[in-house]
Amino acid sequence: MPVAAQLCPCGSVSPKKVPKTFEQCCGCYINAFDTTPAPDALSLMRSRYTAYVLDNEAYLLATWASEHRPASVSSDEKLKWLDLTVKKYQRYDENSSTVEFVARYRQDGKGGRLHETSRFVRRAGRWYYLDGRERDPL
Ligand SMILES: [Zn+2]
Repeated sequence: MPVAAQLCPCGSVSPKKVPKTFEQCCGCYINAFDTTPAPDALSLMRSRYTAYVLDNEAYLLATWASEHRPASVSSDEKLKWLDLTVKKYQRYDENSSTVEFVARYRQDGKGGRLHETSRFVRRAGRWYYLDGRERDPL
């Protein structure tokens, strides 16, 4: 597990632009999903990115809407996530939001980027990842 002082992979900063540690940021939700679910779709999206970085399959599956949840999340050892940029966060109503983001990665020595708009739904007070639509390459 990451040490307490490690910066959060999602790259969040405080209002004063100080980078947040894993424990201050996505770690809250990833380490205590049962008691402290992500309070909004944006936090969930960031914590799921972080879970991909940390290869935390249990968290990814637990935050996936049941109708689209895969049986497992395969990890690609050759793929390394580099950073995350949130482009747009839209709240449609209290139970549905989308987040558009770009996540950069390296795979087999080559750089790439995933540009996706993800849909999130809130059920019984918890946010879940519903599905995502890949955007045209930038
Ligand atoms: Zn984070």
